[in-house]
Formats: sequence, structure tokens, C-alpha cells
Amino acid sequence: MDTIVGDEISLPRPEHVTAPGIQHHWCEHPGYGKDAGWGFAKPKQAPHWFCFEHRGDGETYL
Ligand SMILES: [Zn+2]
Repeated sequence: MDTIVGDEISLPRPEHVTAPGIQHHWCEHPGYGKDAGWGFAKPKQAPHWFCFEHRGDGETYL
């Protein structure tokens, strides 16, 4: 039986990520759509973006 992780947020992710600050990002907090100024990413993985208010959420991706 497969284990499905249900709390993954499925946002469209660009294949080509440019340098931080160039692209416009939105907070990934569920139900939110604020500007996100905080990016969190493991090496070789797509970054997750959160606003100042929810940047604590992003630390779970580190
Ligand atoms: Zn937020």
C-alpha cells in the first residue's frame, strides 16, 4: 500500500527558476495569495515561497 503525502501543495512550478528577486512568487500557505519574499529550497529541488507571515512554514522544507 502506497503512502500518499497529502499536505504537498500542488502549484505550477516553472522548469527554469531564475535568480531570487527576479521572478514573482506567491505565498504557498494554503488559501493564501500574498506576495512571497522568502524562498526555501533544498539543493536541486524546486524552492518553496512564503510571505513574511508564513515563512515558518517554509522551514519545514529545509
Ligand atoms: Zn503567507
